[in-house]
Amino acid sequence: MVNCMDKGKKRLFILLGMVSLLVYGAVFGTIWFVMTTASPAVRHIAVTALVAVFVMLILAMTIGLACLVLGLMFGSGAPWMQKTGRGIIELFYPMVLQVGRFFGISKEEIEDSYIKINNQMTVAAGNKFRPEEVLVLAPHCLQNTTCPYKITIDVHNCHRCGRCSIDGLLTIAEDTGVNFVVASGGTFARKFAKEYHPKAIVAIACERDLTSGIKDMNVQHIPVVGVLNERPNGPCHNTSVQLCKVRQAIAYFTEA
Ligand code: SF4
Repeated sequence: MVNCMDKGKKRLFILLGMVSLLVYGAVFGTIWFVMTTASPAVRHIAVTALVAVFVMLILAMTIGLACLVLGLMFGSGAPWMQKTGRGIIELFYPMVLQVGRFFGISKEEIEDSYIKINNQMTVAAGNKFRPEEVLVLAPHCLQNTTCPYKITIDVHNCHRCGRCSIDGLLTIAEDTGVNFVVASGGTFARKFAKEYHPKAIVAIACERDLTSGIKDMNVQHIPVVGVLNERPNGPCHNTSVQLCKVRQAIAYFTEA
C-alpha cells in the first residue's frame, strides 16, 4: 500500500526533475536562439562568454583539486584548504565512480580510497575534543550471530563473553571515556548521531556504509574517522574490527 508521504516524496522528485528540465531547456534554447538569430557581433560576444564560463569552471576545479592534493601531501589542516578539498571531493565523486567503472575499478576500491582521504584530512585538521564528545558508532554485524543479548538497545546488555569485538570495544569505551553505541542500520546510526550530539565520530563499518555515513556527517560538519570492519565470514555476518585501529582513531580526536 502506498501512503500519502510516499506520494508527496515522489511528487517532489518529479517536480524538481521538471524544474531541472525547464532550466536546461531555457539555457540551451537561449544559446540556440542567439546562435541562429543574432548578429555576428552578438554571436561573438555569446561565444566568448560561454568560453569564459567554461574556463572559469575548469580553473575552479583545478584549484580545488590542487588544494586537495597539496593538503594531502603536506598534511595541511588549514580550514580553507579542508573546505576546498572536501568540496572538490563531493563534486568529483559521482564522476570518479563513472570513470572508475569505465576502467574496471570496483566501487568498493573507490570507497576505500575516499575513506582514507577523509581520515587523513580529518586527522590533519587536528581538532581535539573531550572524550564524552566523541561517539564510537559500530554496526550490528560485529555481534556474534548466536548471541541472544539486545546490544542495539543498550550496548551494556553485552555479557562480555569475548566471542565478538563488542567486548573489546566496551573495554576501549571504558578506558577512554567515549560514548559507544551499536546501530542496526544507517537510519539508527543517524538517530544515535542526533541523540548523542557528538562533536566527532569514530565509525566502524564496511566501505559502502562508511562512505555514506561520512558524507552525511560532512554536511553537518561533524568530523569522522572511519575504521573498516573485517569480513572473514562474508558481508554483514560475524564481522570483526581491529581494536588497535579504533583506539588509534579515538586518540586522534582526544589526545594532544
Ligand atoms: S561479547 Fe557480548 S555481544 Fe559479543 S557474543 Fe559475547 S555477550 Fe554477545
